[in-house]
Amino acid sequence: MQTPQEILKAYWNFDAFRAKQLEIINASLEGKDCLALLPTGGGKSLCYQVPGMMKDGVCLVISPLIALMEDQVTNLKSRGINAVAINSSMSKKQIDITLDNAIYGPIKFLYVSPERLKTRLFQVRFAKMKINLIAVDEAHCISQWGYDFRPSYLSITDIRKLQPNVPILALTATATPDVVIDIQEKLEFKELNVIQKSFERKNLVYNTFGTNNKYNRIITALGRLNSISDSGIIYCSTRRKVKELFIKLNDQNFSVDYYHAGLDYEERLNKQKSWTKGETKIMVATNAFGMGIDKADVRFVLHHDIPASIEAYFQEAGRAGRDGKAATAQLFYEPDDIQKLKENVALKYPPIETIKRIYNALGSHLQLAIGSGLEERFPINIAQFADKYDFNILVVYNSLKFLELCEFIKLSDNYKQPSQLKVLANNKDLYSYQVKDKTLNKLLQFILRTEMGIFDEYVRINEFKISSKTGLTIAEIRAKLEYMVQLELVDYIPKSDLPFVTYVTERLADNNLSISPKFYLDRKKIAENKLEAMIHFLTSDRCKSELLLQYFGETETETESCGKCSSCLFDKSEAKNLRKIIKKAAIDLIDDHDKIIISELISALPNHSRAIIIENLRWLADHDEIQIGPMGKTFVIN
Ligand code: ADP
Ligand code: MG
Repeated sequence: MQTPQEILKAYWNFDAFRAKQLEIINASLEGKDCLALLPTGGGKSLCYQVPGMMKDGVCLVISPLIALMEDQVTNLKSRGINAVAINSSMSKKQIDITLDNAIYGPIKFLYVSPERLKTRLFQVRFAKMKINLIAVDEAHCISQWGYDFRPSYLSITDIRKLQPNVPILALTATATPDVVIDIQEKLEFKELNVIQKSFERKNLVYNTFGTNNKYNRIITALGRLNSISDSGIIYCSTRRKVKELFIKLNDQNFSVDYYHAGLDYEERLNKQKSWTKGETKIMVATNAFGMGIDKADVRFVLHHDIPASIEAYFQEAGRAGRDGKAATAQLFYEPDDIQKLKENVALKYPPIETIKRIYNALGSHLQLAIGSGLEERFPINIAQFADKYDFNILVVYNSLKFLELCEFIKLSDNYKQPSQLKVLANNKDLYSYQVKDKTLNKLLQFILRTEMGIFDEYVRINEFKISSKTGLTIAEIRAKLEYMVQLELVDYIPKSDLPFVTYVTERLADNNLSISPKFYLDRKKIAENKLEAMIHFLTSDRCKSELLLQYFGETETETESCGKCSSCLFDKSEAKNLRKIIKKAAIDLIDDHDKIIISELISALPNHSRAIIIENLRWLADHDEIQIGPMGKTFVIN
């Protein structure tokens, strides 16, 4: 057998393992369960890929996002390793074929989404596979204390029972101490075993700034950062904001592009490529950009909006400086942003009754009888659906998301799906149709010539490209493809701009649709707590790096102030002085009810920005020197 180093050299052409990688690999080789905690970009994939290559059989990889799986599969294939992914946007037939290949074929890595694990089809086939390792990527998803709980991750224990001697390797970049324990319990580790690299990123400086004008601050920051030659990302919370900021920066002649999940697959790929190569420097993006991006020399990550949790922030900011060279993360927020985020949490959790009404309406909309629909997939136009039943579109979206969390349905996360094609017939059968049909011949000749693997797997096709190369019209191409589907010569999945909803459970009657109020309230509470922790991170004057390490449980290791972040550099004596000025001005403004109106205080201090005053009021409140009223408009001095 080859050694891990030999495999690393042979397939990846890397000379040495990074910190902790070999230790983790050895645990899997020795058949031990292991939870590996490495920061984003730390090289978690290799930790299961190397043992997967060393041992006979297939490595099962459970991964939450289609895009992530596809990146990994493409990457492995480019190294001559046989890997495939199954996901919820595939047809039943596609899934069937892939699973068979994992039993009988030469597949080394099988990527699946967690929902897949529960299906009988998968379980029956899985039991027959020769599995060498079960890798659980983004393992924090199994914990309801984690920031991205996915109940379907809990099914991993069921499939583990089908292959009880196979070790598990769980991997994550973000886990608080309670999540670390929870992951090992939920995955039924035979023995507790955590291998962890410190979350400290010495080369990355974290900064958070309250401001009255985020846009101006971002422009200034980009000017100071070397944004002409350095690469960076600016995260915004919505597609609309992404587009707006992109247009503004583009007008200012920055080398900038934008990215979100609503763009065509090929468009996204091209944008990502030219940014990775450094042809465009700044990518304005939603959080859809990042998972799977592999660029070591990102020098800055800016946040135009506040992420919903520290975990999310840490992942996003952590994309800067993976090469170990100096990098910065800067987050800007306006006074109202915090309030808006709190309101957003409320919106994310519509009342249970509303969620149920939307579930019923969805069934009617899709004309689905009660008891049917299991594992069926429907394209859905959410805006149209909301309109037809007179719901607010955001409420619909958030309700569908909650129904997904309850595992009644699943929404595809890949909105724009390209067309896909696989040839089912053999060459000889195809030929007999080709000689009879000129158009079909032209089409097939082109496809077979350009798409080598099309007999073995689904490949993306682009009808426009085919049209321009063959001279056939799009309509002709589509018609011929549909015709061949009927003859069972090929399987063709036309492209779709709509998200899909898949019924994970058959459509339930109203009285069978049970949403546990406790589950609902727990989820809501956890979201609120995560946000509170995020707000504390922003407003605390302690070292940002220390705050992050503390959040992730690294209190025992000796953490020191970084000396470089927005808190460390904030002149504490100046701040103290300002708080004195604020308190003095406040005393002059006390009204008959002992209250001070915040807007009056701000007017009384024209030399200080509103944001700075608010920030300091928050500090005073955190330190029990004042108490801010319930509406956030007044305060009293304690
Ligand atoms: P993670 O999943 O921990 O965020 P990845 O597994 O995606 O990180 O790896 C990030 C990058 O680091 C990839 O480009 C990978 O090829 C590279 N990498 C991982 N291990 C090594 C190594 N030992 N030597 C050099 N590069 C490595
Ligand atoms: Mg990873």
